Amino acid sequence: NARLFDVDRSSVSSEGYSLDGKLDSQRHSDILQKRETLPVRKQKNEFLDVLKKNQVIILVGQTGSGKTTQIPQFVLEAFEVETSVKRPKMMVACTQPCPVAAVSASQRVAEEMNVIVGEEVGYSICFEDNISDKTVLKYLTDGMLLREAMAKPLLEMYRVIIIDEAHERTLATSVLFGYLKLVLGMRPDLKLVVMSATVEAKLQDYFDGAPLMKIYCVQHPVDIFYTMKPESDFLGATIRSVVEIHQREEPGDILAFLTRQEEIEEACHRISEEIGKLGNKVGPVEIVYLHSTLPPDMQQKIFEPAPPPLVEDGPPGRKIVVSTITAETSLSIDRIAYVIDPGVVEQKFYDSRVGVEFLMVSPVSRDRADMRASLAGRTVPGKCFRLYTERSYNQDRHGQTDPEILRSNLGSIVLILKKLEVPDLRHFMNLPAEEALTRALKELSDLGALDDKGNLTELGNMMSKFPLDPQMAKMLVVSPGFNCSNEILSICAMLSAKFLFLVPNCFREGFDKVKARFVDTDGDYLTLLNVYNEFKRNIIAEEDLSWCDTNFINYSVLKSAQNVRQHLVQCMSRCGIEMCRTYLYGPEYYDNISKAILAGYFMQVAHLECTGDYLTVKGNQYVHLHPSNFLGGKPEWVVYNEIVSTSMNFIRTAMDVRGEWLVDIAPPRYYLKNFPNSEAKQILELLEKWKEEQRKWEREESKNKRYVPR
Ligand code: ADP
Ligand code: MG
Repeated sequence: NARLFDVDRSSVSSEGYSLDGKLDSQRHSDILQKRETLPVRKQKNEFLDVLKKNQVIILVGQTGSGKTTQIPQFVLEAFEVETSVKRPKMMVACTQPCPVAAVSASQRVAEEMNVIVGEEVGYSICFEDNISDKTVLKYLTDGMLLREAMAKPLLEMYRVIIIDEAHERTLATSVLFGYLKLVLGMRPDLKLVVMSATVEAKLQDYFDGAPLMKIYCVQHPVDIFYTMKPESDFLGATIRSVVEIHQREEPGDILAFLTRQEEIEEACHRISEEIGKLGNKVGPVEIVYLHSTLPPDMQQKIFEPAPPPLVEDGPPGRKIVVSTITAETSLSIDRIAYVIDPGVVEQKFYDSRVGVEFLMVSPVSRDRADMRASLAGRTVPGKCFRLYTERSYNQDRHGQTDPEILRSNLGSIVLILKKLEVPDLRHFMNLPAEEALTRALKELSDLGALDDKGNLTELGNMMSKFPLDPQMAKMLVVSPGFNCSNEILSICAMLSAKFLFLVPNCFREGFDKVKARFVDTDGDYLTLLNVYNEFKRNIIAEEDLSWCDTNFINYSVLKSAQNVRQHLVQCMSRCGIEMCRTYLYGPEYYDNISKAILAGYFMQVAHLECTGDYLTVKGNQYVHLHPSNFLGGKPEWVVYNEIVSTSMNFIRTAMDVRGEWLVDIAPPRYYLKNFPNSEAKQILELLEKWKEEQRKWEREESKNKRYVPR
């Protein structure tokens, strides 16, 4: 067997601190005991003291020190008197970078406080609220806190706001810092706690020298191993490493990082197969996967202990967690002794020069790689296997990941900030380059959300109320104009649901037949709509759960799409938007839906040039249809949902549209201004001319009609 790894001499850190409290039989006392051992407990009084004396405090402590679960409880205890008096309750808010983390934290804290989630402790994430009048502690995504500010700009319902996982530097967190700074000036009674796993010196300056407090915890040593040669198949290498560790290494759980959900599911499947082949020679394993769209009950599995040996004195059991970056910092899993880091991450990128946002698998930065390695030494000494060379670590990687604000389309956030009436956006956003902001403002005005002076229009105001990107929000708001709000609602919900079909490799052939049941070759959007409608008929109306299995449909994905839909329906009714539907077998069905989609996504249109490639209007890129598309052929014009970059640039989820609609629906001359010299432009020029003629002709016609003697 060729050795996979080359040994490295360096270690992450030293000294030992053990967190494993003795386990009691009762779950609650177990939990309380565990709580007492967390490093942050020792500094409770110090923390509360600093909090009392300051309006803003920055707290730094490594993953697992107890920040997320304990600090909000300390704050609650300190302000208990206040929350029990009979005036409107003031809550504590604690933000998280992703929904999974918000839900998980609220569940854990509810257990510790021995209350039910949704009562004293609740959570609020996009498309799901679990809170009540009793709620005093609310975990919510950073994006939700911004949305709450749109309704209550001073956030009066909160006494203390905790911004957690600040090191993640998500878009919403970056913007919240700016916004909360304004609010703190207006509300001397409000307190802000910023929590981070790494020291962020800039933050201290930003909040005028707010005190920085460190939580002392001890990290166990972690040995780091690199591959000797660069590894191209990181999925295969990850699987091999897991199996090898399970066969050869001492007891201790494994955490492996992969990039995408489908990859994670495949890895789990293959690991289970490979280990199954080894029979009784190895201990039992519990393989769990984790990604940001996993339902809460399945997330909880990552916290469960490894299975016991099959027989007394048999080889020990192991828990194997395969995760996206969600497990990097937002969720702290105990007893991990082995970390497998393929050195890649799927990230959003935004090219502000051309205005295109895309998803790309790229090398992780050194700070992220170190963060991953340190997870192996949280509770026991550990090992980290990096599936890349040491040279690659030192030379091919950035030191730090760029904050999200530098790699995002700012459209959604600018819409929120406009609604919040934040003055002087350029100064507020404090970006190193203004291109992205300028582009966001331009796109919002092309969409009709901003007027010439840059103020929010009525349409923009309505769009801001939807927790969706501006294009999708516009598509929904204007859909009654095309008589199809019901259909567009379902399409929006389905677009939010990724990985609809679950097809094991051995069933690929059968899948084609299944696909044919739903496919509409005019557009993937219509295929999605068909799936949703069938789901509604079979599952909701007839409770036939086997329908999902026979059609390779991912039930939980559709359930969550249904939930998203219900939330959007509420948003619609709050805005007073009419619900209407277009007749499925009527001649207008396809036209109405395509036009409504175009009304929102007219910037995401591409033309099939004679080279066989598509040319996009936004960014003027040459792209291909993604192989997963269900279109009948290669339509001349398509509207698409997103660009994915792998070996080539692909447009994913596309729909056939007619050229003449483009000039009707987009702002005047939009395409002529934005397409370079190309076939697309020539055709559009003709279409514009033809349109002009038609208008002239119609004007003449109506003039003549007026003078026709009766
Ligand atoms: P930090 O925010 O500093 O990373 P946390 O407060 O998230 O730390 O976690 C403290 C401890 O609580 C960890 O050891 C973690 O494993 C445990 N814990 C957190 N959430 C859960 C949960 N949902 N179930 C079980 N244990 C949990
Ligand atoms: Mg945390």
